[in-house]
Amino acid sequence: MVIIVKHGASDAQIEGLKALLVSKNIQPHVSKGSLQTIIGCVGDVADLDPGLIEALDVVESVQRIQEPYKAANRKFHPDDSAIDCSGVKVGAGGFGVIAGPCSVESEEQIVGIAKAVKAAGANMLRGGAFKPRTSPYSFQGLGKVGLEMLSVAKKETNLPIVTELMDFADIELFNDVDVIQIGARNMQNFNLLKEVGAYTKKPILLKRGMSATLQELLMSAEYIMASGNPNVILCERGIRTFETATRNTLDLAVVPVLKRLSHLPIVVDPSHATGYSYLVDPVAVAATAIGADGLIIEVHNDPPRAKCDGVQSQTPAMFAKTMEKVRKTREALFQ
Ligand code: PEP
Ligand code: MN
Repeated sequence: MVIIVKHGASDAQIEGLKALLVSKNIQPHVSKGSLQTIIGCVGDVADLDPGLIEALDVVESVQRIQEPYKAANRKFHPDDSAIDCSGVKVGAGGFGVIAGPCSVESEEQIVGIAKAVKAAGANMLRGGAFKPRTSPYSFQGLGKVGLEMLSVAKKETNLPIVTELMDFADIELFNDVDVIQIGARNMQNFNLLKEVGAYTKKPILLKRGMSATLQELLMSAEYIMASGNPNVILCERGIRTFETATRNTLDLAVVPVLKRLSHLPIVVDPSHATGYSYLVDPVAVAATAIGADGLIIEVHNDPPRAKCDGVQSQTPAMFAKTMEKVRKTREALFQ
């Protein structure tokens, strides 16, 4: 249920309404927009009589919410959310460009790539230290040492770090991490979502599962938000279909669809979505044009020798060209 508050209601009236809701075991989420204040109600609203609430002096109207996700729902929060990633705003006009290798391989590698992507226009650094690999025989990431190398790259460039958490047992190693990635394979690891949501308010980059519907993606965001962390960034990275020409199938219509359903920012990953470096440039430009709030792109100094995802990794020179087009696209369409 969403309560639309009357224009001009005082803070004291809104507090009174919140207290009434709390007394009925409802958690009120107040969203003060430029034109309207609304209160989203989380909890068992079955016993809450909408007529009773609508009759209150301070209330304009009451809307029932059909969708099972509440906190992530745009009806709860009509304005776009901007997520602050250690000074980089993503959403509500803020555009995040997260770039770097699939995996951290050495200090020299991550620092070199960090400097190159920053020079080209990236505003955050990615790099996996804990890697979810299909084969147990593939490179699994450098773990704690990889995170330490990311910290060195952060010190050298001031770029906030984005890296994947696979196991909550590792969370204490993530103190210097700015944005915690939950990968496609863990999108429905509900315990991990609950634990991370309760432990931290750091932004969470939540990647769409490979066979997840948008409603399932939003329900996973809801797990994190309901546990106490409202700072979720959605990431579309393609899904598995019968098509084999690309690594995954990317439906860019997802961006405006998610924007209609949710106030959360949405970032597109053209690298995992396509699987080939030649496709990253056109898809990054298209994702920008369709209104994505950012991009996450794999960049490697020597793709043929990359320990992970070399085929889809751009070189720094390719990335710089893509960034130029992304900048022009944003200027032409959004600025
Ligand atoms: C990644 O970003 O390196 C990754 C493993 O992505 P995904 O979870 O989308 O497959
Ligand atoms: Mn990868």
